[in-house]
Amino acid sequence: MSHTGEIIALTEKWSARNYQPLPVVISRGEGAWVWDVEGNRYLDCLSAYSALNQGHRHPRILQALLEQAAKITVTSRAFHNETMGAMLAKLCGLCEMEMALPMNTGAEAVETAVKAARKWGYQIKGVPADQAEIIVCRDNFHGRTTTIVSFSSESQYREGFGPFTPGFKLVDFGDIGQLERAITPNTVGFLVEPIQGEAGILIPPEGYLSKARELCSKNRVLLMLDEIQTGLGRTGRLFAYQHEKNAKPDLLIIGKALGGGVYPVSAVVGSREVLGVFRPGDHGSTFGGNPLGAAVAMAALDVIIDEELSRKSAESGRTLMEMLSAIPSKHVHEIRGRGLMIAVEIAKSSGPARPFCERLMKLGVLAKETHHQTIRLAPPLSVGRVELDLIANAFREALR
Ligand SMILES: *Cc1c(COP(=O)(O)O)cnc(C)c1O
Repeated sequence: MSHTGEIIALTEKWSARNYQPLPVVISRGEGAWVWDVEGNRYLDCLSAYSALNQGHRHPRILQALLEQAAKITVTSRAFHNETMGAMLAKLCGLCEMEMALPMNTGAEAVETAVKAARKWGYQIKGVPADQAEIIVCRDNFHGRTTTIVSFSSESQYREGFGPFTPGFKLVDFGDIGQLERAITPNTVGFLVEPIQGEAGILIPPEGYLSKARELCSKNRVLLMLDEIQTGLGRTGRLFAYQHEKNAKPDLLIIGKALGGGVYPVSAVVGSREVLGVFRPGDHGSTFGGNPLGAAVAMAALDVIIDEELSRKSAESGRTLMEMLSAIPSKHVHEIRGRGLMIAVEIAKSSGPARPFCERLMKLGVLAKETHHQTIRLAPPLSVGRVELDLIANAFREALR
């Protein structure tokens, strides 16, 4: 048995089977590239679901990690630390918001936003106790906690995990009429991804977010944007809502690339009116806002801005879409995307996307299917012409 085979066998023996990884064992990474235990090199076109927008082991982010690790790593929020305030100030500045609440994973930040919206609803909007409603979209992905899967429309995410948290209402993504009809006096928030990532990179009709913003303002409903995957440059803007006019949310949920590809850091960013509802003891996290994570997040944000990764993502995304669209193939149903968040949807008649991903892997491109038919292409945002050519050539070969 190969080294790869042994490691996979050991892993599968001891780990719960909540994932089905491609059969590659990665042992090293740098920038957009990773190497497996046999020494083969691959271009990483998943970027850990956009946690690696800055690339693997970015030197500036690693330096921040090491420097902070040499001083103090975790304090808990029972004491102040030197780095959290500065990081949140930078984050709020970039988001043009007044306050932030730091957590670790994306799901925790979504939970935090749900709690903030409910408490704001009771304290500020005057919704009767325990009657708050939050509107969400079908095919959403906001994480895996029991409350979050309570409002998933994907049966596999829910099956066997009930009973569920009440207080959520589903509408079709992109349908502004349905949103309008779903709003009641007890509605406190509308939680939505600007582009639905896990559902297959689904882009709503133009103007959807601006109209949702208008409806939310008119009805005193909080617009809560989950930009955990779309944020921090991925779609060619710092945040995906900036593709539309006047779509700024009340609560912006950020994660993944905020941790610079080395450490989980997430946050909810918003107005003083909303995040001001939290009082000491209401909510918390042992690791949330720790100095190591804060130092990493600070460097992660600096890299996105200083290296102009949003602009690079927009340009490379445009080029890559053109290159892919120029490949003639009966296997491709549609290519869509924004910036370097691109979906290649395989025609139903050509079977599922997984075998294409396995072929791409053998050609040196790591990509993962999402929802059976779709291959997601989301490399680190710093990729250049060499990497884009490699992706296009691998696709030409894999689609033959
Ligand atoms: C990944 C993701 C989450 C969950 O983040 P975790 O860090 O895995 O908990 C939530 N929302 C969106 C849009 C995501 O892509």
